[in-house]
Amino acid sequence: MTDIYLIKIGEISLKGKNRSFFEDMLKKNITKALKTYGAKMKGGFGRFYLTVEDCPENVATETLACIPGIVAFCKTFIAEENIDSIREIVVKLAQEQIEATGKYDFKINTRRLRKDFYMDSYQISCEMGGAVLDLSEKLRVNVKNPDWDVNIEVREQIIIYGKTLPGPGGLPVGCAGRGTLLLSGGIDSPVAGYLMAKRGLKLNAIYFHTHPYTSEQAKEKVIQLAEILAKSNGGIDLYIVDFTKLQLHINGLCAPSESTILSRSCMMEIAQGIADKTYSSCVITGEALSQVASQTVESLRVTGSHCTLPVFRPVIGLDKEEIINIAKKIGTYETSTLPYDDCCVVFSPKKPVTKPNFERLNESFAKLDADQLILECIETTPKTYIKFRKSGLSN
Ligand code: ATP
Ligand code: MG
Repeated sequence: MTDIYLIKIGEISLKGKNRSFFEDMLKKNITKALKTYGAKMKGGFGRFYLTVEDCPENVATETLACIPGIVAFCKTFIAEENIDSIREIVVKLAQEQIEATGKYDFKINTRRLRKDFYMDSYQISCEMGGAVLDLSEKLRVNVKNPDWDVNIEVREQIIIYGKTLPGPGGLPVGCAGRGTLLLSGGIDSPVAGYLMAKRGLKLNAIYFHTHPYTSEQAKEKVIQLAEILAKSNGGIDLYIVDFTKLQLHINGLCAPSESTILSRSCMMEIAQGIADKTYSSCVITGEALSQVASQTVESLRVTGSHCTLPVFRPVIGLDKEEIINIAKKIGTYETSTLPYDDCCVVFSPKKPVTKPNFERLNESFAKLDADQLILECIETTPKTYIKFRKSGLSN
């Protein structure tokens, strides 16, 4: 069976001459995500229609709800060129919405964009309102504040849809190029990645693994987070860096108070190297200002100076509570809060430096003489392609 979904866009419609670039990217991302169901996209100028074959509604809905660039979408039905056919569909959609909401205030919205249909929009709305009212005595037309509505659009075809569901908004993944996300198992970095994917970056991710000091479960947790992010990202390349040798090297040579900030500096250099190799134009972290010692302005100056690419920190100005709310919304919170420690926790000094002196830290970094170890990480880390998971992001 063929199903049709109307896809609505927001910010893309504000684009000028390059608008088709964004629209084509969105079409490509949607057809790729639903390619098993023979997905095809038609339309343009702000209205797209997706057709899929034998695709369960929950699969289509769950997928579309995660694709950046989609502001809203709805399952759509095509009526024949007569009022009986329109009525049949409208009544069916009304029944579905009564069942789903248990509410009875409704509205019929009709738009007639061609004048050759034999009824005008007012007449169609009245006729359909009457047909819906016949379903139950509890029903009431409420044009100002309806519980649900049914929409009829008389275009080249007569299109009818009921419940409109929200998409993530933003811009299609890939339209801003590639970005390399430092993905730890925590709450902040998956949120940071999601926010940047929503601004059009196609993500790849790096996880610094320090086995046996960090467990296999900690690594599995990061893989699960990547699987959830992969849903809005159309798959994700994950680089799991074997960071143990470098971490031990750092801890063996530096003052304990500087160990975290120095290992972060090394992570930034490795991120830069992997970003270069993967044609990423930026690095993304989940750092939030003043959250911990390594995220003060002074610390960020030190770690940021080890990467010449732009470093995006989209949660920099958010409270933990605000980040948690986004994590819950995008479906990463549960996984992020599984109790497996990351290397930063295991190797954390008791008294980390909070206001590092820039020059002094640079000297400490030079003393590590870690270039070769950093290069090894960049050159030997394998790529793992992570497919998207069925559950996860809900919006
Ligand atoms: P998150 O910030 O993701 O909640 P966290 O709080 O454990 O995890 P922080 O110590 O706040 O991590 O680290 C700040 C940022 O540095 C992270 O958001 C992440 O981008 C990066 N980072 C830290 N540790 C790692 C790691 N082991 N692998 C990849 N990135 C890391
Ligand atoms: Mg954090």
